[in-house]
Amino acid sequence: MLSYKNISDKILQIKENKLSLKENVSGFVKRINDNKHLNAFNFVFADEALENAKKIEEKIKSGNHGKLAGAVIAIKDVLALKDKPLTCSSKILKNFNSIYTATAVQKLIDEDAIIIGRTNCDEFAMGSSNENSAFGNVLNPVDNTRVPGGSSGGSAVAIAAELCDVSLGTDTGGSVRQPASFCGVYGLKPTYGRISRYGLTAYASSFDTIGIFTKDVDSLATVLSIISGKDANDATSADNEVPNFLSESDTDNLNFKIGIPKEYFGEGLSKEIKENIEELINKLKSHGFEFMEVELPTTEYNIAAYYILATAEASSNLARYDGARYGLRAKEGSNLNEMYVSSRSEGFGTEVKRRIMLGTYVLSAGYYDAYYLKAQKVRRLIKNDFNKVFSKVDLIISPTSPSTAFRIGEKANDPLQMYLSDIYTTSANLAGIPGLNIPHSKDSNGLPIGIQFMANQFEEVKLLKAAKFIENNLAHI
Ligand code: GLN
Repeated sequence: MLSYKNISDKILQIKENKLSLKENVSGFVKRINDNKHLNAFNFVFADEALENAKKIEEKIKSGNHGKLAGAVIAIKDVLALKDKPLTCSSKILKNFNSIYTATAVQKLIDEDAIIIGRTNCDEFAMGSSNENSAFGNVLNPVDNTRVPGGSSGGSAVAIAAELCDVSLGTDTGGSVRQPASFCGVYGLKPTYGRISRYGLTAYASSFDTIGIFTKDVDSLATVLSIISGKDANDATSADNEVPNFLSESDTDNLNFKIGIPKEYFGEGLSKEIKENIEELINKLKSHGFEFMEVELPTTEYNIAAYYILATAEASSNLARYDGARYGLRAKEGSNLNEMYVSSRSEGFGTEVKRRIMLGTYVLSAGYYDAYYLKAQKVRRLIKNDFNKVFSKVDLIISPTSPSTAFRIGEKANDPLQMYLSDIYTTSANLAGIPGLNIPHSKDSNGLPIGIQFMANQFEEVKLLKAAKFIENNLAHI
């Protein structure tokens, strides 16, 4: 257990000489080394982190420090950090170093956070179990025979195993919320556009969102306030006002109306998770929260629409890895075309190849209307469903995932089963709305159960308030 409650408490303890930042950082480095078997990190910047700890400790003592001073942060290996490797856990980007820093990461550094390393993930963020990484599987710290979820598995594990204070991941179809639920930590996917995507390696650009993992709600709110906002380098970043999420997360007089979408509680959902959510609903009711059943009738099309659109975008985004400009170039090939083919054949893993082929197929001349265009229309209907529901309620409650962490290898050879594990998370990405995994309880195997709350666009404040209320009054993990 860390000796501080959240980032602000950590700064305070350093100021009062109750905590040494240098010792704290070397403690994290030691824990990372002791937990190497979890395989959560692709790269660790131990020396640099320790040097920064020295400098930032002085800054804190002198009172002249940023809002994240001394916060030890790990970032998913798809986010750019200048002069550091950026591999996306893919062989094709082996030996590639980033030439600039992602806006969100730069904002952390500008507030005196310490970047401790780059976390393992599914190759190009494609996956739900972290079994598709060129660096190998990541293990769930709660039960090493199980997956941590994916694609941001390393970032979730880094928080669950206390290898850092905060981590960043990315969520295109659930990759922050689902691993957060499997590992028992908070995982927030903000509104699309809330955080700049500049420096986030593109998988499916109309879905990709940077997300945050923490052990507590206050740290989540603090980091969100800092990394949100309009960025000239990302035309899709939103101009909306960035609230002080932390001060907004007080929980007096919450009279939220919460929707229960019946489509999210049907067949395929683990009984224990269902009962656990019902238990939370009853407790929240006794604290004055109002619940009503709502309908999201397009739910059955989520997975199909998501996997058509995401693979279409991926096939286009990943065309840039051709061996000519980035990373790996195969030795074979007597002409340019052969060099492209052999570099891509050697460099990409099976799942990435499958997605590129699927995406190319749904975009091809004969099938574009039947698949890609149709899926775009379905996406609009899904968004309309949410608009209707949010005209009646403040939040939606649902499971984050249909099961708790599954076993390593259990779904690896069955892509459809793997895709189905994203059934409750892809909708928020299709609709562009924020979603938060709250670590709530444990199942009979001792595995974490996560509960998802979703809100309307740019209403993260409501998510954080509900989470804070549960953290203060009801969480029993
Ligand atoms: N599991 C989903 C996929 O493989 C989501 C991934 C993500 O959110 N990056 O596409």
